[in-house]
Amino acid sequence: MEDVLILGTGCAGLTAAIYTARANLRPLVLEGVQPGGQLTTTSEVENFPGFPEGVDGFELMDRLRKQATKFGTRFQSDYIERVDLTGPEKILKSATQEYRTRALIIATGASPRMLHVPGEKEMFGGKGVTTCATCDGAFYRGMEVAVAGGGDSACEEALFLTRFCTKVYLIHRRSELRASDIMAKRTLEHPKIQPVWDTQIVRVLADEKGHVRGLALQNKKTGAASELAVKGIFVAIGHVPNSQAFVGALPLDEMGYFLPAPGSAVRTKVPGVYVAGDCADHVYRQAITAAGLGCQAAIEAERWLEQEGH
Ligand code: NAP
Repeated sequence: MEDVLILGTGCAGLTAAIYTARANLRPLVLEGVQPGGQLTTTSEVENFPGFPEGVDGFELMDRLRKQATKFGTRFQSDYIERVDLTGPEKILKSATQEYRTRALIIATGASPRMLHVPGEKEMFGGKGVTTCATCDGAFYRGMEVAVAGGGDSACEEALFLTRFCTKVYLIHRRSELRASDIMAKRTLEHPKIQPVWDTQIVRVLADEKGHVRGLALQNKKTGAASELAVKGIFVAIGHVPNSQAFVGALPLDEMGYFLPAPGSAVRTKVPGVYVAGDCADHVYRQAITAAGLGCQAAIEAERWLEQEGH
């Protein structure tokens, strides 16, 4: 029986681990399919406070992990498939093991939805394919880039990229944006943004060094094939929160994001169960906001355990 079990080793999970470990709660952290979370797929992080020269995403997560370990966090690799949160002991089951805990912090993150076209995976993170303009936009200063998607995220990414890039192609599979009117208007009126309608990206093209040189496109109405020369492609076609194991156990919104209890960013309707980071936040999605939520969840868990007499 654990006092605190934390799911996830992204910024939220590891921050929660640092705080609960320093409170002598010896948290057990389960790391799932992507140890270190989304940041490990980013090259350089320039906006995490305290690193004026920037920090490699992988290194940042490695440091967080060391910090959590130093105070007594235990790590185990496992993927939770089912949960029972109805009793005083929260029960979590993977394919091979069962875990029991008093307090549970869910920091399972969200995975960016990908195009799943040839070249995308090979050039992801540092070679021209990315899912975060806030993280990587500044590396494309003075270049032409493309954004895939037609929702608010795609518009937000495209608008952000106009600060650095000479031109931003917005490639959408339909001829109408899904984004809110205000975002759509702002995007379509921007002189640096050029929409490419009814178009599907069929392949990400590499140069001789294995970096993005362009995109192979196909018009969905005419079937015409074309190539577009860009140095970067920002995939912004939505995120998938990692909440599948909790369907029916905790309130989720229509997209699958955890819905915290009213008046709190991290408490849930089940006492002792907290959510933190991108699995419960589709608005900010930043390393620092995830870390902040992990801290909140840890402090809440610590206070709850004390109040319950543990
Ligand atoms: P979204 O609204 O689900 O939009 C995803 C976009 O990607 C859609 O245009 C969709 O095309 C396209 N798409 C999905 N799968 C695709 C595929 N396989 N290939 C090509 N295109 C694909 O996701 P989001 O933009 O991340 O927004 C998620 C939520 O967060 C929304 O509720 C949004 O309003 C909110 N949000 C708000 C803000 C803001 O207010 N500033 C910023 C970001 C997000 P179709 O249109 O054809 O389906």
